[in-house]
Amino acid sequence: MDVDFDYHHIWHPYSQMPAQSKPLPVVSAEGVYLKLADGRQLIDGMASWWSCIHGYNQPRLNESLKLQLDKMAHVMFGGLTHQPAISLAKKLVNITAEPLQHVFFADSGSVGVEVAMKMAAQFCFENGLAQKKRFLSFKKGYHGDTFGAMAVCDPVTGMHHKFKRLLNKHIFIESPQCGFYEPWQPHYMDELEQQLAAHHQDIIAVIFEPVVQGAGGMNIYHPHYLKAARELCDEYNVLLIFDEVATGFGRTGELFAYQHGDVVPDILVLGKALTGGYMTLSAVLTGSKIAHGIKEPFMHGPTFMANPLACAVSLASIELLLSQDWQANIKRIQQQLTTQLSPCKTLDNVQSVRVLGGIGVVELKETPDWSAIHDYLVNNGVWLRPFKNLLYMMPPYIITEQQLTHLTETLFQALKKT
Ligand SMILES: *Cc1c(COP(=O)(O)O)cnc(C)c1O
Repeated sequence: MDVDFDYHHIWHPYSQMPAQSKPLPVVSAEGVYLKLADGRQLIDGMASWWSCIHGYNQPRLNESLKLQLDKMAHVMFGGLTHQPAISLAKKLVNITAEPLQHVFFADSGSVGVEVAMKMAAQFCFENGLAQKKRFLSFKKGYHGDTFGAMAVCDPVTGMHHKFKRLLNKHIFIESPQCGFYEPWQPHYMDELEQQLAAHHQDIIAVIFEPVVQGAGGMNIYHPHYLKAARELCDEYNVLLIFDEVATGFGRTGELFAYQHGDVVPDILVLGKALTGGYMTLSAVLTGSKIAHGIKEPFMHGPTFMANPLACAVSLASIELLLSQDWQANIKRIQQQLTTQLSPCKTLDNVQSVRVLGGIGVVELKETPDWSAIHDYLVNNGVWLRPFKNLLYMMPPYIITEQQLTHLTETLFQALKKT
């Protein structure tokens, strides 16, 4: 493989030209394994950034794509419709909370977030709340890399500080401070309440990632926060958007993370694992308050909206997930991660270890030289991609006990070297 050409000509995520290091060439993937050009196999502890929940080269998902491919790969969604979009939308309406009845398909998580923000804004503009022009979100939040999404990411850890001058000024509060397993105390809501009391006439919606903040800091927080935030939003007439692009489809132990808090957002954004990691697709769901409250056309319509291949594989992925005792399986992974990552706490450089569902996070006191650790991990058959002071994993759900043990032990040995 011409990795040198890649190195000099192709941008990779969050990199410059040329990048600081050369990418690893992957020739194929099977189950939890990535197969490299030199014959090495790595266990993918990242599930390709939360998405590949059933593992690679999954026969049922492959089959769904092949069947759809022979019918049609794509058709515009303006004025036309097709069975994969209808079946997937029905399924999504069915498996999400009862009030969420309307579906907008978009291209990616970031674009889904843009759509959610535009819907919330248009709803306000058309319903006597046209003075509202800001969003409220959390520090350590991550919502994507497009302009609207960037503007609600953590202004410091959100990777977008260079564009600060070009972004709309929204309101940020501290990320939720109460750990998932700690006792809840009402004062955790003080800052949200103060900001809503002071600025509610200005705020279109509160947007955040329920229970697990992903790429902005891997913070896992108390589910009661969701309920308390819902009540405050209702009290101050502010919409609530949940970004479940990372947390959806079982990752946290519930099918959707909002279920931990027993609440329903006004707008829900899904992505990443939506297609089982096969293609890019996101879905924005709303209740009829928003859907019917927007009375003029909603001006958003991506060229590849509701792509039939993406919808077909997404439906197959959801059916595959729901056909198994996925909850017991996630519990199994959670228990194993809890037991096997806890020895990391004994290491000098470890600040904390956090586990929920199929997510294991080790936060370090100081950011180490990741390049040496990267080499150690790869040489020992493990693919993880740390950022800042965080080394974390969210493996495919099909990972066996033995494979997961290999992941956690290799991670422990790697951290010992920091
Ligand atoms: C990854 C992510 C996004 C952006 O999704 P893309 O498909 O990369 O555009 C948005 N929100 C959250 C919570 C994410 O984890």
